Amino acid sequence: MTVMTGAVASHVGNVRDVNQDRAMHGPTLGAVADGMGGHAGGEKAAAMAIAELNGIRGAVSERRLVDVVEAANRRIYEAATDPKLRGMGTTIVAAGFDPSSGVVTLVNVGDSRGYLLRGDDMTQVTVDHSLVEDLVRDGRISAEEARSHPQRNIVTRALGIGPDVNVDAFAIRVEPGDRLVLASDGLSNEVDDEALTRLVQQHADAQEAADVLVAAALDGGGRDNVTVVVLDFDGEPSEDGADERAVGAEDSPDAHDPLAGVSKPRRRRFPLRSLLLATVVVFVIGVVGFGTSWYADRGFFAEPKNDVVAIYRGRPGGFLWFRPELVEEHPELRVEDLDGASLQRLEQRPVWSTVDDARDFVENLESTSSGS
Ligand code: MG
Repeated sequence: MTVMTGAVASHVGNVRDVNQDRAMHGPTLGAVADGMGGHAGGEKAAAMAIAELNGIRGAVSERRLVDVVEAANRRIYEAATDPKLRGMGTTIVAAGFDPSSGVVTLVNVGDSRGYLLRGDDMTQVTVDHSLVEDLVRDGRISAEEARSHPQRNIVTRALGIGPDVNVDAFAIRVEPGDRLVLASDGLSNEVDDEALTRLVQQHADAQEAADVLVAAALDGGGRDNVTVVVLDFDGEPSEDGADERAVGAEDSPDAHDPLAGVSKPRRRRFPLRSLLLATVVVFVIGVVGFGTSWYADRGFFAEPKNDVVAIYRGRPGGFLWFRPELVEEHPELRVEDLDGASLQRLEQRPVWSTVDDARDFVENLESTSSGS
């Protein structure tokens, strides 16, 4: 059986005041949402999308993942009728894994991206729904020009903008050693494909890879919030499973059926070229310079501490010399009082990009003694 493990890193960037990106990962799910519109609205929309995805348990099929993203769209759209939140929306890129078939489904709306690293090949699996992507496709600007285009932040699809949304879905039969990278546009606008490929390949540890990608985006300017989820697949190959395929949900009502509406994802191949020593030196200086400050931006997770639920900053089980740091205890939530489903959710140790999302998670754990 193939197993998926992950890591998250997120940073507000060098220019903005608020981080409107949200992200999470668990045993069968990883997701990045990049909120937009208003100060409160963007954060709210992104957090709502991630919360909706957190409702998924266990093996994730394509149908389930698309359904949940569509449900998130409706919820955000309805919440945006509040005048204070009008115009809020969010991108989403999510990966849902079915360990028994070994198939991972990538879905996206907007310009947050999903990449697949397999061996030496890094491919962008998702296709951006953005103005500059349309311009690149029409041959009016180059990919390089797109990264610094003044309208690079304009998306042509987002969650929360209309009552319905088209969700693109890409199914990949994973092989042990595969790595998926999910990222907000704060990464792709600051780090070119070649550097991105090199950094993802150079760091075997998922947390290290997520951290150096965020650091590279800050080094490249950090003009936007930047968020990265790295998902690694290891273990034995799973039995059976569909061939790689891509299905746009707009293709047909049967688009989620593996036998219908099959089309190849458009992919960009990044050749791995020889390294320039100077570039490496610059990166090494950058990496050492940022040092431990990234650690503060790593995820948050909940875990039993003595008899109660507690929230920690860091990575479950620790990372290198970093141990998870206690943020707060929730004495009102005793582990022995949790119902079975909540215990299972806690044991899965989902990791959140913000402490607020971890708190929402903890607040939603059901105590059998609640109300007594
Ligand atoms: Mg962004």
